[in-house]
Amino acid sequence: MKNFPGYKCSLCGAEYLQGQVTYTCPKDGGNLDVILDYDSIRKKFQPEDITSRTESSLWRYLPLLPVDEPEGDSTPLHAAGWTPVFALARLEEKLNLKHLWLKDESRNPTASFKDRASAVVVTRAREIKAEVVVTASTGNAGAALAGMSAAIGQKAIIFAPKSAPQAKVAQLLIFGARVILVDGTYDEAFDLTIHASQEFGWYCRNTGYNPFTAEGKKTAAFEIWEWWIKARRGWHKKDSQLNDHPPLNIFVSVGDGNIISGIHKGFKDLLALGWIPNMPRIIGVQAEGSAAIANAFHANTENITPVSSKTIADSISVDLPRDGVRAVRAAKETNGTYLTVSDEEIIKSIAELGKMGVFAEPAGATAYAGLVKATSSGVVGSDDPILVLNTGSGLKDIRAAMQAVGAAPIIEPTLQAIKRLL
Ligand SMILES: *Cc1c(COP(=O)(O)O)cnc(C)c1O
Ligand SMILES: [Zn+2]
Repeated sequence: MKNFPGYKCSLCGAEYLQGQVTYTCPKDGGNLDVILDYDSIRKKFQPEDITSRTESSLWRYLPLLPVDEPEGDSTPLHAAGWTPVFALARLEEKLNLKHLWLKDESRNPTASFKDRASAVVVTRAREIKAEVVVTASTGNAGAALAGMSAAIGQKAIIFAPKSAPQAKVAQLLIFGARVILVDGTYDEAFDLTIHASQEFGWYCRNTGYNPFTAEGKKTAAFEIWEWWIKARRGWHKKDSQLNDHPPLNIFVSVGDGNIISGIHKGFKDLLALGWIPNMPRIIGVQAEGSAAIANAFHANTENITPVSSKTIADSISVDLPRDGVRAVRAAKETNGTYLTVSDEEIIKSIAELGKMGVFAEPAGATAYAGLVKATSSGVVGSDDPILVLNTGSGLKDIRAAMQAVGAAPIIEPTLQAIKRLL
């Protein structure tokens, strides 16, 4: 088991040793941040020691992770992370931006950002010799846990709302997890999973509950850091009169708030190590119908009031976000903000990204929909460099995708029929 100093509660600041706690703060239920020994990392490693590695997965950041590298380097566990970044030149023009990129997380092994968290949690489960790992999920977290578990023969149980899109349920089943559909909301499945894991001694991966999910998700920040070092050189060529550049603006879709918190943690690690001079701006985007964190942010409070969530973006449909406090801080402490977008805007964004060769599920396209809003409302200016995340694949929810486009015509197999159509 890898040695790391322990955990710190994000609410009361209490610190715990590794063996003392497993999930949240026993005093107040606050989310725990994993503490790293920055001094010792700094002594042993230079940034170049990491950026020069050939490992093309999230395991290239091993020195900054609280787990050891999983055994066997040729399983899907070693395909998580290291996702590509695409320049969106035609959308730059349309939005009157100069520097727009998209990081495509749909290229993870089970086709969503969640693989980052699950790869690290499954590795932790191995280290603590957990017999069974369990999670509540709207679909993607479960698919990721099921897939990563299958990769190394770990037993997994997934609780998902029975309304989860079929493709996601198919993934769970195909990966051989024990799948239990709950006749209720994601939030109900979440609480049930915690009770069940206490009752049966299972190791619980729940998002915004298990401290290792954010440690996996932070690897996206490390990749953005490496990419940005290189991208900036090209960007300066394009805009050579700019000496000191505005910070990078990162757009992230937000449900429970664990991805945005994880990305924030990654940049905080880099800042603490002295490997970046300052923070990028982190901008969270929520669906209007599931906006508990955005509401709190704009009310300038860390008290998250639950909503009764309703949105086509099932992956970010959450009544009570489980990582809301840290998610509010991610935007606040980086000079970022929160935006909300309608289902209609989300669906439109699926089609726009599609025309760039990127197929996003509704929650994945939400970040881009937020960017569209940000350009018209002045949250970002045309000189600002922007990176949008696509967090999940459109193949996971083709019913939503079909709402973004018209149906294809059906014709008789004759030339005449084509002529009539054209
Ligand atoms: C889980 C998920 C999100 C949101 O992540 P949170 O940690 O819940 O905020 C966004 N997009 C997709 C595709 C997801 O699966
Ligand atoms: Zn606490």
